[in-house]
Amino acid sequence: MVQGHAAVVGTGPNGLAAAVTLARAGLDVVLFEAAPEIGGGLRSEALFDPRITHDICSAVHPMAAAAPFFRAFDLAARGVELVRPEISYAHPLDGGRAALAHRSLDATCAALGADGPAWRRLFGPLLRHSESLTGLFLSDLRRPPSSPLGALSFGLRALRGDPFRGEAASALFTGVAGHAVGEIAGLVGNAVALMLGHLAHASGWPVPRGGSGAIARALADDVTAHGGAFQTGHRVTDLGELAGFPLVLLDTGAKEFLSIARRQLPDRYARALSRFRYAPGAAKVDFLVSEPIPWANPDVGRAGTVHLGGTRAEMVRSERLASRGHLSDTPFVLVVDPGAVDPTRIVDGKRPVWAYAHVPNGDDTPPIDLVRARIERYAPGFGDTVLEARGITAAEYETYNPNYVGGDIGAGAMSLRQIAARPTPRWDPYTTPLHGVYLCSASTPPGPGVHGMSGYLAAASALKRHYGMRPPSLAPDARP
Ligand SMILES: Cc1cc2nc3c(=O)[nH]c(=O)nc-3n(C[C@H](O)[C@H](O)[C@H](O)COP(=O)(O)OP(=O)(O)OC[C@H]3O[C@@H](n4cnc5c(N)ncnc54)[C@H](O)[C@@H]3O)c2cc1C
Repeated sequence: MVQGHAAVVGTGPNGLAAAVTLARAGLDVVLFEAAPEIGGGLRSEALFDPRITHDICSAVHPMAAAAPFFRAFDLAARGVELVRPEISYAHPLDGGRAALAHRSLDATCAALGADGPAWRRLFGPLLRHSESLTGLFLSDLRRPPSSPLGALSFGLRALRGDPFRGEAASALFTGVAGHAVGEIAGLVGNAVALMLGHLAHASGWPVPRGGSGAIARALADDVTAHGGAFQTGHRVTDLGELAGFPLVLLDTGAKEFLSIARRQLPDRYARALSRFRYAPGAAKVDFLVSEPIPWANPDVGRAGTVHLGGTRAEMVRSERLASRGHLSDTPFVLVVDPGAVDPTRIVDGKRPVWAYAHVPNGDDTPPIDLVRARIERYAPGFGDTVLEARGITAAEYETYNPNYVGGDIGAGAMSLRQIAARPTPRWDPYTTPLHGVYLCSASTPPGPGVHGMSGYLAAASALKRHYGMRPPSLAPDARP
């Protein structure tokens, strides 16, 4: 146990994970949040009907299910149920066809026909090394792998990329690579497809019962139980405001850090931060609908996540357009009908549908018609079920949360360079040139997603450097 004060700026999953870790170590933690509500990318809200919850940002949590931070924190013991669909993700194609990634590897391979053996060869060995691969990729990316064989096997597969002959398996694989926003066709896209793709057959792609806000509440409750305090509606605009805190952890993106610390940062570091690049943006639509999505292939309705991108060639083309600043009329769209997995989300037959399209960074085209048309293509009649819809353009996302620059929901492109140097080249990526000031957002390793690891690792680094202390236990029954 240590004594002292710490400020955490931002209450996304990483800010909350940092605060949990610091508060459990004994520090008096104050969290500052610009928005009226805590949670960052974990916020859920009733948008149209007070009984129906929509996830404003994240909805599906393969990384929260697998990350060492959340496994130690133990969401289940804190009453957060991660509900795992039997079909992790689906990829509809024209003509009522669809490729399905079941949780079961056997079921997936059986349904893929001639490409089934290749799917097994690709993912089977990774499943055997799942724990060490997850530990490696959800880390500060500075440590040697605990299983060199697993890492080698992963690396060879990532170099090779899509090994499938048939359209369906190739599209299924490439749809997961699409989570690398803008990097779909290269090494990074392949690595993301292998990492998230193998988790679909391991700990699954769950949705939290009741919505993503349940995860934020569990984290915030733990912070409060260990003496932490929240100040919402307070955007920190100058680091000088926090001069009284010997430790400051920033759950802010690179651009926001530069903005609030411009006066204090050395020029060279400030220039490096200003060179940090951003990926294409997300344009989100929340629908309230009167019935399940009428997918042409009904099996798609059993999946937790649906990728709408067409064939591999179509996805590569639309992602390339978005990266080059052009809006495709058939963008890559992700769709989640949480009610398909969690019946508590359905009230009087009405249910939320969560969807977003990959669009050029900063795009301000209202997305409702675009996304509705994209869903209609694979679910004719969807438009007739829509009761309400709200769109957020990529440009508006940055106003909602300064970390999403131009709507880049990854807080910085996941190029090879920016994976290695995130946000700038430093051996300890959470440190900054300012004594006691650490970065802990998705603009640091391991990057985007709800895994809490950037926050946890930044807090661990701060505890070690300032107090010579190892991180505390995160288990629910541990008390300071
Ligand atoms: C539409 C969308 C869909 C997504 N889907 C998924 C998904 O299904 N699964 C998944 O794992 N991930 C998903 N993500 C990504 C995920 O939400 C983020 O990667 C994750 O939330 C990043 O966490 P973070 O703590 O680094 O930052 P954030 O969650 O972005 O939180 C940062 C917080 O800091 C606050 N802040 C910033 N600057 C200041 C300041 N100066 N002063 C005070 N407060 C400040 C912000 O208001 C915000 O609350 C999605 C994101 C979006 C937008």
